[in-house]
Amino acid sequence: LGARLHGALNQFSKSSSIDDAAIDALLKELCAALLESDVNVKLVAQLRAKVKAKKSLEEAEKASGREVNKKNVVQKLVALVDPGTEPYKPVKGKVNVLMAVGIQGAGKTTTCTKLAVHYQRRGFRTCLVCADTFRAGAFDQLKQNATKAKIPFYGSYTETDPVAIASLGVEKFRKERFDVIIVDTSGRHKQESELFEEMVSISNAVKPDMTIMVLDASIGQAAEGQSRAFKDSADFGAIIVTKLDGHAKGGGAISAVAATKTPIIFLGTGEHLNDLEKFTPQPFISKLLGMGDIQGLMEHMQDMAMADPDRQKNLAKKLEQGKFSIRDWREQLSNIMGMGSLSKIASMIPGMPQGMMEGGEDEAAAKLKRMIFITDAMRTDELDSDGLIFFSFDKAGNPTGLNKRARRVAQGSGTSVREVEELLAQARMMAGMARQAGGKNGWMSAMQKMQ
Ligand code: GDP
Ligand code: MG
Repeated sequence: LGARLHGALNQFSKSSSIDDAAIDALLKELCAALLESDVNVKLVAQLRAKVKAKKSLEEAEKASGREVNKKNVVQKLVALVDPGTEPYKPVKGKVNVLMAVGIQGAGKTTTCTKLAVHYQRRGFRTCLVCADTFRAGAFDQLKQNATKAKIPFYGSYTETDPVAIASLGVEKFRKERFDVIIVDTSGRHKQESELFEEMVSISNAVKPDMTIMVLDASIGQAAEGQSRAFKDSADFGAIIVTKLDGHAKGGGAISAVAATKTPIIFLGTGEHLNDLEKFTPQPFISKLLGMGDIQGLMEHMQDMAMADPDRQKNLAKKLEQGKFSIRDWREQLSNIMGMGSLSKIASMIPGMPQGMMEGGEDEAAAKLKRMIFITDAMRTDELDSDGLIFFSFDKAGNPTGLNKRARRVAQGSGTSVREVEELLAQARMMAGMARQAGGKNGWMSAMQKMQ
């Protein structure tokens, strides 16, 4: 999908005149690509109508007309998945209670643990409460997950009243001043009214700051009906869409959910505890269009660094000073290699070849390895540079192309000059981002405010 849209946008920006035909061609391709990913048909039609209404010939004839239209299209796509409401954000120094609801098998228990790990990494003391007394083995599953992630938990093998367990667990952890208490509830296949009643009772007992509906992406556009049914019975403030790994229907689920005007806060992208991605409409669309997701990537880098305080300090210092060399990029790449779910992370790196995300884990690993080989073939001064060392310049100081060094590195690493150029471009983007990161309004402080 990404490749297709990317191609269409490229074609569009290359076309010499922006006339109706060019815009039509872009829209057609865009709509086809979106529909392939099962985005709600109605929404695509609306999008198409809106973009067409907005562009006028005068606008297109302006020098920047092309950019305006491209931006316009991107904005419309963002609007497609953006319900325009802000979710609750856990606050430090207070007890935040989160509660997960959803049908059986949606991924609640898994997602609760992922969330606990996510907030723990950001400095919150997190814990889990198992209020699922419906499914046999529910407590064991949560216990196993929690133990693996080293998260304190509460549950019972003998108590059969979910409201009692939820109350006791939340009360206990409240007293112990945990920052984030996550309550996992049961789901049902049938007897939906019973499920909804149970949800309301637990909610009344523990008074969550945010109720999160967990929804399986594979149901596609049925997501709209399901989330509406839940919302009618027990209001919730946020949604997490799970199982987006390997499901072409993700786009459908996401756009359907946007129609319920509830913000999606995270996406589940695998069975492992790290497979949780923050959802924000703009980066999601950028990624879909092959434009990378710098913010997501930075968050991953931060997460990885969290495990090692020295490394974290080092990265923070580099970013603050706006210094980021090829060596730093290499370190991030090898961290990424150790993280699992490579295709997901690789898709966040801007300038990655299109279609790689679809290629899966092996392809992503092979690609990242080649990138590391490239840095392995560099000399010390090259690694410590910002990458300009690999370019030739004319008298006016403008780069005229890659130099001997770049060819040597390509040869030494068994890669191509094109790939070396690609890596240099990525390192440059990272460096640019590092520069922006410094200062009061920089990325680092923005991240801190966000938590
Ligand atoms: P619950 O019944 O809602 O608590 O669902 P579970 O958390 O027990 O998850 C049901 C199944 O879905 C389990 O096998 C999970 O490993 C799996 N699962 C949950 N989230 C994801 C995800 O994001 N991706 C994939 N591939 N599997 C998931
Ligand atoms: Mg469960």
